[in-house]
Amino acid sequence: MKSIPNILSTQKNFFKTQKTKDVSYRLILLKALRLEIISNEQAIYEALKKDFNKSEFESFLSEYGLVISELNLVIKNLKKWAKPKRVTASLLTFPSRDYIYKSPYGNVLIIGPWNYPFLLTMEPLIMAIAAGNTVVLKPSELTTNTSQLISEIISNVFPKQVVISVQGGVPVATELLTQKWDYIFFTGSVAVGKIVAKAAAKHLTPVTLELGGKSPCIVDDTVDLKLTARRVIWGKFLNGGQTCIAADYLIVNDNIKEVFIEILKKEIIRAYGQNPKKSKDFPRIINKQHTKRLAKALDNTHIIFGGEVDIENRYISPTLVDLTNLDCELMNNEIFGPILPILAYKTDIDIENIIRTFEKPLAFYVFSNNKSFIDSTINKFEFGGGVVNDLLIHFGNPKLPFGGVGSSGMGAYHGKHGFDTFSHEKSIVKRGTWIDPPTRYAPYDNKKMTIIRKMFKWFG
Ligand code: NAD
Repeated sequence: MKSIPNILSTQKNFFKTQKTKDVSYRLILLKALRLEIISNEQAIYEALKKDFNKSEFESFLSEYGLVISELNLVIKNLKKWAKPKRVTASLLTFPSRDYIYKSPYGNVLIIGPWNYPFLLTMEPLIMAIAAGNTVVLKPSELTTNTSQLISEIISNVFPKQVVISVQGGVPVATELLTQKWDYIFFTGSVAVGKIVAKAAAKHLTPVTLELGGKSPCIVDDTVDLKLTARRVIWGKFLNGGQTCIAADYLIVNDNIKEVFIEILKKEIIRAYGQNPKKSKDFPRIINKQHTKRLAKALDNTHIIFGGEVDIENRYISPTLVDLTNLDCELMNNEIFGPILPILAYKTDIDIENIIRTFEKPLAFYVFSNNKSFIDSTINKFEFGGGVVNDLLIHFGNPKLPFGGVGSSGMGAYHGKHGFDTFSHEKSIVKRGTWIDPPTRYAPYDNKKMTIIRKMFKWFG
């Protein structure tokens, strides 16, 4: 493979040829990508299974299916999205026809995480191509099988001057970040997000940072406990809890906490059996290092369910922890594993005190049937996005922008929001020449001033 500066310079030269500005060319590439992905469906499931025992069902639901939907959506709508949009002219630009042109940034770098390795590299890639950019994609080094397959899919579909996948870990990512990109799209941890932002700042490169955080889930005492437990257990333990928008911890009304915990336990058993290690549906932790990190976070906690750890097999059973104190290893960082701490609240102030201990989270969940409680919590806190009475599903609506705020990230994507993320909006005024009011031209006088003042008043 060529060196990174060579790869980028080839892509820069290709971008200058204007080929990627042609929407039909982009559509040819996107359709070819869809065909290639469809023909690799089983291979994708196998790679994800090998990487962390992800079941075919979860791989379809949370990776393959979402990628194909995004491709279908963009292929159907690209011509419409890419068309210059006419906006009404202002009196100050009259006579004119005013437009917003969607313009690709140029050469884009995408760096992906390991937790949804196929989805979280393909989704930004699709929209970067749709918007007319070239892409260098670096998938995670931790999902070796899926990342290898991603590289194969990409090299089967795209000329290298349009898209190339570069494999590697920190040294490769570091070298990529020294280059001057026109846009960087990063998904991963807060710590690495800061490194990416710093490298981007050096060249004033715009960035999207899709990061993580400690996403709370509030459960009040007006809910259907069984339904709530079912949804919480599904959303928390999907992907083995290794989901950026998983509920990191529960804040449960003190009146129902004990009974709710019993229902949560039953729900775990219903989903994964008495021995989740034998369940074909329960994923493993990505590697031993992360398994050890999670095991350590369980030290000195009050485990009320699960807690089984097998470092060698990268297994941690679905675990519930009763928590009374936020000052512990489990609450120091995003958990990112199958461990669910449960805190109690008595008043709204308790909720506020807990949530405000942490940085602005990526997701926010509230289970309640009390409309004013729901509205007040949604309005009170700052977070990326959220769901009332369920977990995770806001990710599935491409009409909703997906992204964080503050420490959980900046920028957003999904559906047309993704296309917009990878497009610069060029404002263009096409000025008429059939009339040329003399008011704005020097020499200025009081009469002209009066006319100008009136114009601003009428149309300002
Ligand atoms: P990570 O930050 O460790 O790694 C992400 C990518 O950055 C990888 O490709 C890795 O090779 C690269 N990288 C690692 N160290 C680097 C460095 N020093 N310099 C440059 N690049 C470096 O994240 P991860 O462990 O792969 O993913 C887990 C994190 O990602 C969690 O915090 C999770 O919340 C977050 N996440 C966020 C989203 C989202 O959409 N907001 C989605 C998935 C995961």
